[in-house]
Amino acid sequence: MNIPMVDLRGQYQSLKEEIRRQLDSVLEGSQFVLGPQGEALEQEIAAYCGVRHAIGVASGTDALHLALRAAGIGPGDEVITTPFTFIATAEAIAYVGAKAVFVDIDPQTFNICVDAVASAVGPRTRAVLPVHLFGQPADLAPLKQICDRHGLRLIEDCAQSFGAVYQGRMTGAWGDAGCFSFFPSKNLGCYGDGGMIVTNDDHLAAEIRMLRNHGSRERYYHAAIGYNSRLDDMQAAILRVKLKHIDDYNRARRRNAALYSELLQDAPVLTPVEDGKGCHVFHQYTLRAPRREDLQKTLSAAGIASAIYYPVPLHRQEVFAADCAGLSLPVAEQAAAEVLSLPMYPELTAEQIRLVCRTIADAAAR
Ligand SMILES: *Cc1c(COP(=O)(O)O)cnc(C)c1O
Repeated sequence: MNIPMVDLRGQYQSLKEEIRRQLDSVLEGSQFVLGPQGEALEQEIAAYCGVRHAIGVASGTDALHLALRAAGIGPGDEVITTPFTFIATAEAIAYVGAKAVFVDIDPQTFNICVDAVASAVGPRTRAVLPVHLFGQPADLAPLKQICDRHGLRLIEDCAQSFGAVYQGRMTGAWGDAGCFSFFPSKNLGCYGDGGMIVTNDDHLAAEIRMLRNHGSRERYYHAAIGYNSRLDDMQAAILRVKLKHIDDYNRARRRNAALYSELLQDAPVLTPVEDGKGCHVFHQYTLRAPRREDLQKTLSAAGIASAIYYPVPLHRQEVFAADCAGLSLPVAEQAAAEVLSLPMYPELTAEQIRLVCRTIADAAAR
C-alpha cells in the first residue's frame, strides 16, 4: 500500500459531479474574471470567518503582499515574523520594500514566540506577521495586545489554517487582515492558484480591491500602480463546492491526528502538541524525530511518504544571509533539524494510519 502526503484525486472523486456542474455553469455564463462566482465566494467566506470583507486574489503570496501594501507598509519599515515558515511569508515583506525581523518560535507549537515579539518591537516596527503553522493558531490574544499597545498592524498568515478557531473567533478575523491560500494542497484548496484576504477594515478592503485590479476603482481610471491579482471564477466555483465540506474535512483531519498520536505514544518521536488555546486543523501532522533521516528512509522503503516542513529556517536561507548574518534563533534551528510531517488528509483511513505507526514502531525496534 502506497500512502502519499495528500490525496487530491480521492477528494475529487467524491465531489466530481457537483464540481463539473459548477464549472459547466461558469463556462456557459462565460464571465471568468471578477464574475458572479468570485463575488459569491467572497460573501460566503466573509460570513464563514465572521468579518465584513473578503477579497479574492491570485494566491496566498499575493494576499500577504497586497495586505501589507494596503496597510501602508513600505521601505524603512520593519515587520516582525517567524523564521519557521514557507518563504512566501517573508517574500511578501520584501516585495513592499520592508525588512523582515525574524524572532524565535515556541518549541511546543512551532509558532512565533510572543515574548520574542515583545522584545523585538523597535522604532521602525510597523507590523507583526504571525503564521498559524501546520493549522494551529498562533497565540493571537497577546500578539494583538502588543500590536494595540504599540500601534502596529497585525497581519495573519492563514495559508495553513482555514477554519481554525482561536478563542471563539476564526483565524484571520483577529488581525487587521487575514491572508489565505487556496493552493491545491491546503485545507481548502482549489485546482490551481488562489488566495483571499479577510478584514473588518473598510479602508483596507477598498485599497486591496483597487490594488488587485490594476489600481482601478472605476474601469480605465487608475489611482495607483496596482497588480493583476484576481481569483478567477473557475477556481471560485470549485472553492464554493469545497467550502460546504470544510468543517467535515477539518474534523476528519483532527480525528486522524488523534489516532496518530494515540498509536505513536510509545514511539521514540514527539507527537504534535496542542496548546488548547485554539482549534488545530492539522494542515500538517508534524513530529519531532531525533533520528529523522533514518525514519524517513524506513517510511519511504515501506511506500509511505513523509516531508520536512521546513528544512532551513528563513534566517539561514541564502537569500537572507546578508540581512541575518550572526542571527541565532536556536529553537527554530532545532525544529528545522528534527521535524518530520506524516501523510495527512481527510480521506486518510484508520488502516493507513495504523500502517504508518507500525512502520515507525518497527523502525525504532531495529
Ligand atoms: C502556502 C503558503 C503561502 C503561500 O501561498 P500560495 O497560495 O502558494 O502563494 C504562504 N504562507 C504559508 C505559511 C504557506 O503555507
